[in-house]
Amino acid sequence: MMIRFRWQRGAGDTARRLARFRRVVDSALQTPRYGPSLERAGLRRTKDIAKIRSIEEVLQYIEPAYYDDVVKMPDLWRAPIEAPESLPPRLLYPTGRAARTAVFEAPVEESRWVSRFSMDEIGALRHEMPEAIAAPAPFLVFVARMVEGGFLSLPPVSRYLIAFTGFLNLPEREMVLAAEERELLWRVFQVPVFEQYMGVDGRLAGWECEAREGLHLVRENVVLEKTRQGEVLLTSLTSLHLPILRVRTALEGSLVPGPCECGRETPRLVALRRLPVVQAFAARAAAG
Ligand SMILES: [Zn+2]
Repeated sequence: MMIRFRWQRGAGDTARRLARFRRVVDSALQTPRYGPSLERAGLRRTKDIAKIRSIEEVLQYIEPAYYDDVVKMPDLWRAPIEAPESLPPRLLYPTGRAARTAVFEAPVEESRWVSRFSMDEIGALRHEMPEAIAAPAPFLVFVARMVEGGFLSLPPVSRYLIAFTGFLNLPEREMVLAAEERELLWRVFQVPVFEQYMGVDGRLAGWECEAREGLHLVRENVVLEKTRQGEVLLTSLTSLHLPILRVRTALEGSLVPGPCECGRETPRLVALRRLPVVQAFAARAAAG
């Protein structure tokens, strides 16, 4: 039995989410991991997909899993489908206005505003002089420590940082930006940092606006639920080659309905943090 987040929804929004969910379930039907569970839900073949009336009704048949299991046994989870991989998404500018941004190690579309680099190209920042840097949070933290320690010098960034968290950050995917890391980034870069939490396929699940009062949920990309223990579960509405239903995020948090100070009505994930029990588990695993 799961407790679900509740929020107001528009009819069009619900229909669009259901259509996306049906496509993901159609892929999941073809995987050894989800096939048997979906069969119990009365879904065997593609033609059964039209029967799905509610996302929650189907999800209750799915046992939550750790993403580590996906990584260890990808063949169980991968769908043998022909659909082309979707193009990388556009970068979402947290303040709404485009900024010349250097993006490190993230699947984001390049444009005249956005240039992509690999982690060992950090030196490129000296001549690129971007207004903003977007990178996985552990990488930003590493760079900040190098600068603070005097091992690296970088030109100032004038606008902001975007810290990618979530499933993009292997192997530290079960993380959000901690308060002391935000302080370190502020101390070194002297610009605001905006967190963007990514799902398994690099699509945004939640993002921080200028108000920085939690992460705005991207409802067309993910379904979030909460277990009785308080853990947030993520179902992707976009990942077809690797369908993901109810993956454990190892995070706890609450969903607050709108409106936000920024004027947007979408619900926000607030007070996201790692589950203490998971930290203990991780420490045990590391101790080996
Ligand atoms: Zn907002």
